[in-house]
Amino acid sequence: MEPVAILDVRGRTGIRRPLYVSTTAIMPGYAGQAKTTRAYCRLAQIGENAQMTYRTPQPSKLSKESISHLAEKFSARVGYEAGCDLESLILKLGGKLEYQDFWELEESDSGSITVEPDNSFTVYLANHTSIARDRFTVAHELGHLVLHFLLPKATDPTGDWGLKASRFGTGITETEANQFAASFLMQEKQFREVHERFGCDIVETADYFGVSFSAASVRAAALGFE
Ligand SMILES: [Zn+2]
Repeated sequence: MEPVAILDVRGRTGIRRPLYVSTTAIMPGYAGQAKTTRAYCRLAQIGENAQMTYRTPQPSKLSKESISHLAEKFSARVGYEAGCDLESLILKLGGKLEYQDFWELEESDSGSITVEPDNSFTVYLANHTSIARDRFTVAHELGHLVLHFLLPKATDPTGDWGLKASRFGTGITETEANQFAASFLMQEKQFREVHERFGCDIVETADYFGVSFSAASVRAAALGFE
């Protein structure tokens, strides 16, 4: 599957229109389905979105290398550079961040990210966590968005479903989202250069990429550094 096609799709969807969303705008190349979807959306408006469902993430079945490659392409596509602000990127992508106190997080069923069928999304963050940790969480949720929503949507463009990832998820989909996040925030080539430039100092490397010490350590170990 060609990731660029999906990323092209992603870049054009910064608008919030849950109904009357045009399939052709979201999925170029699926013009034949557009009518059906618009008709359905009208029905959905009448029926208050009664048929709308949220799915849980399903494994993308991509290799680690493919996920890293996809994350780096996505990062280039959306113009992300190491250490840059993620909140403005989320807004640019048609998403928003919402901060919740820990008791709200416990009670809420919003999960860690909710994606609507029109590609708009909300990432839920805890109020009490560090900026570096939040940045990794945001990148992890972008992993769910790309791997577990946009990818399957590319093969099922008419499905009127959204995605809800659990805050306490485990298993393959979480590993995939973490792999995506690490590659998105710390691109391999750049990480190798920066890590070497700082004499393998993890604190400085972590600071450069705006990630926690532990995220940078895990990345260094994954890339074969001692
Ligand atoms: Zn997750």
